[in-house]
Amino acid sequence: MNGHLARRTEGFSESVIREMSRRSTVHGAINLAQGFPNFPAPPWIKAAAKQAIEDDVNQYAITWGALSLRTALARFYGERYGMEVDPETMLTVTCGSTEAMLATLLAIVDPGDEVIVLEPFYENYGPDAALCGATPVFVPMRGPEQRVDPDELRRAFTARTKAIIVNTPNNPTGRVFSRGELELIAALCIEHDAICVTDEIYEHILYDGTHVPMATLPGMAGRTVTISGASKTFSVTGWRVGWIVAPPMLTAGIRKVHDFATVGAPAPLQEAVASALGRGGAYFATLATEYRARRDILLPLLEAAGFRPNRPEGAYYVLCDIGGFGFADDTLFAHWLVSEVGVAGVPGSSFFSRPELGRHLIRFTFCKTDEVLHAAGERLAMTGDLARRRR
Ligand code: GLN
Repeated sequence: MNGHLARRTEGFSESVIREMSRRSTVHGAINLAQGFPNFPAPPWIKAAAKQAIEDDVNQYAITWGALSLRTALARFYGERYGMEVDPETMLTVTCGSTEAMLATLLAIVDPGDEVIVLEPFYENYGPDAALCGATPVFVPMRGPEQRVDPDELRRAFTARTKAIIVNTPNNPTGRVFSRGELELIAALCIEHDAICVTDEIYEHILYDGTHVPMATLPGMAGRTVTISGASKTFSVTGWRVGWIVAPPMLTAGIRKVHDFATVGAPAPLQEAVASALGRGGAYFATLATEYRARRDILLPLLEAAGFRPNRPEGAYYVLCDIGGFGFADDTLFAHWLVSEVGVAGVPGSSFFSRPELGRHLIRFTFCKTDEVLHAAGERLAMTGDLARRRR
């Protein structure tokens, strides 16, 4: 029946991140593949969700988001970053930032438009670009520092460039883009009349530097689409509450796509997130401190086990070089690791346009309790021995 499938399903394959989660379950492994916390969400956000259901907030919210959540978000962006966000015309609440990215690209990109993607990139951006018929243009982040070469970036912008996707703090590299790097991207967007779509879902999970929202740079508020959500900030990845801040003209188009795609995000959970956003600075600081501690547990365990991890500045992933284990490629290694060592990671090739670019890499997440990280470390310590025996 393959002939019945539309061509738009052909440009991409199943998500490797989600596939590794499934393999992890099959093998009873420790899942350090898909980025979801194994610890509870804060009690106050759970209480607020229960209360909202009890209060009968059980029907559709306004399609672009409950007024309470849009008001809370406008206040949050104003107080934290000094951004002027009109809740009536500049905010769209979506089913997670996954829908946010797809709705945005569908709303702004015509088939054949070029969309610049910094590489490695979060897996979804490839299929997102394919679904809207965009021509992705990949620009590498290079070296141990994972920097973009300014000239290479400049050359990637053409008359056909519609948008650039920027993800900071970055999944999978852990990079936090500096103001200087963002200024270069901003200057190129302005010069080429392009839109910057920034995925800032890890905005509060930061170990070094500060988070600079692209929309706060001079001249960028009018051409930036800022995407974020509750998933990572409040450890509620299954709630599917994300959002988009964009200038009114863009928001109008994005809301149309969103409305007909999903109607809206879960209404009672929007109320809970609205109330949680009021917790403010102290909670966000604790979140970062706790993640730093988790990072500092997993990194030395990986190093001791013969993986060569990078040192993330933000987000909750670590990319490791697996060259020392003697495997032909990352997928073979990840499949072997989950079945024989009992730890799931994501093959590095999933984050690149061409598989060979990530052949020497695996990504682990550390959004897990100390106990699970230590247990994973114990298993991973056997990787070298088991790999040698296999040869
Ligand atoms: N962002 C998470 C990751 O990279 C998972 C997102 C998802 O699977 N929807 O693992």
